[in-house]
Amino acid sequence: MKSINPYTGTLLKEFQEHTDQEVEKAIQQGQQAYLKWRNIPLSERCELMKKAGKVLRNNQDKYAKIISLEMGKVITESKAEVEKCAWVCEYYAEKADEFLSDEPIDLPDQKKAKVVYNPLGVILAVMPWNFPFWQVFRFAAPNLTAGNTGLLKHASNVPQCALAIEEVFTEAGFPKSVFQTLLIGSDKVENVIDHPHVKAVTLTGSEKAGQKIASQAGKHIKKTVLELGGSDPFIVLKDADIEEAAKVAAKGRMINFGQSCIAAKRFIIEGPVYDAFIEAFKSHIASYSQGDPLDENAGYACMARPDLAEELYKQVKSSIDKGAEVILEGMEPEEGKAFFKPYILGNLTPEMPAYKEELFGPVASVFKVKDENEAISLANDSDFGLGSALWTKDPEKADRLSRQIESGAVFINSMVASNPHLPFGGIKNSGYGRELAENGIKEFMNIKTVYVG
Ligand code: NDP
Repeated sequence: MKSINPYTGTLLKEFQEHTDQEVEKAIQQGQQAYLKWRNIPLSERCELMKKAGKVLRNNQDKYAKIISLEMGKVITESKAEVEKCAWVCEYYAEKADEFLSDEPIDLPDQKKAKVVYNPLGVILAVMPWNFPFWQVFRFAAPNLTAGNTGLLKHASNVPQCALAIEEVFTEAGFPKSVFQTLLIGSDKVENVIDHPHVKAVTLTGSEKAGQKIASQAGKHIKKTVLELGGSDPFIVLKDADIEEAAKVAAKGRMINFGQSCIAAKRFIIEGPVYDAFIEAFKSHIASYSQGDPLDENAGYACMARPDLAEELYKQVKSSIDKGAEVILEGMEPEEGKAFFKPYILGNLTPEMPAYKEELFGPVASVFKVKDENEAISLANDSDFGLGSALWTKDPEKADRLSRQIESGAVFINSMVASNPHLPFGGIKNSGYGRELAENGIKEFMNIKTVYVG
């Protein structure tokens, strides 16, 4: 398993994949750890989670550097990512008691009943490279606090991040094997899902991986949470603050160099403000400067892998060949290199990749619509349904239209961003289940009814 700096192309480190025997041992250890961990008082588990937050804060620069070197994110964003991981650890350390306390139920016949929350056991997390710390902590913070144990199968291009995350929990003082990293390729995931000790699976990744994992888990009636791709609409109505919308739209598209499931991807603009929006949007996007991922002043560096740059360009090229208007010109990536430049494409029709497919990088698809009805129907004309943004100064309109958008979240006059306090997840091909908030900690719990006769 190779850790390669995508900016320089240099090999940073190489790791031996775990053998089948090592994987079996880790699963057994995870189960043994679970049997003890679930009986440790919640308050102690919360204390340890708080310590994990401290370890992250104390080592922010070290972990941020690993992230930037391994997947090309600019260092300012890597530092913010580590900070956010500390936040989610602290959030669940504080809130788990409230979320998981017993819930008495009033019965009409004066009998007593309550709901209690029990952990399920060993949970497998299959995670992506785009937010290599955050995606994992978003799973681990609620689940370990709740008494489950975790097995991480991280993306093959971020093994250093995977091992560093295990180190965070070890340094915080978690008992051995409560959280373990498996260095395995995707071809080995099936066997892990099949293992009787593995009780559930969560995946953040592509639709293809989601189909595979969910069908394999389905064979064993094991629960899954799937957080897959998105092609989030960013709707700007004619009464919006156009300058602000354009600035936030550019940030929403450029964050993580566009490699985010909740990045704004389809910009749907009402006719009267289309030209003004495009002019401002284009100038904001063009103002991002490229540089070394370790440079504090760089706006972006490169994609996480050369094949991702190549794949994205194919989608751009095919759209242009089919008649898309190039509003901002990017570049064709050099073979074997991860460099890319932002594009803005307009005049899009349904047969073009830039209309229908997820563009997992800095390419914005823009659409001009005649009114709010057309905006909503275009927003919903997607196989995905993760996040969405709606810009208008009219609160009544915002409330009414937000109910019509088919997505797991609507952010009004803002860009979509995950936050420990807010449930996160999608509908349609964006997946199912929720992470974060109270909903997230309950996904992999046995919601047990206790009735006293
Ligand atoms: P993948 O979905 O292939 O990778 C995500 C994780 O799933 C990795 O750990 C990967 O392992 C694993 N995986 C892949 N295929 C399988 C499988 N058949 N069985 C079990 N595990 C599997 O994403 P890519 O890196 O290939 O990126 C491709 C596209 O996926 C992006 O362009 C984007 O559309 C989407 N994506 C979405 C993300 C999101 O945040 N929702 C994050 C990343 C990607 P391994 O690395 O070993 O293959």
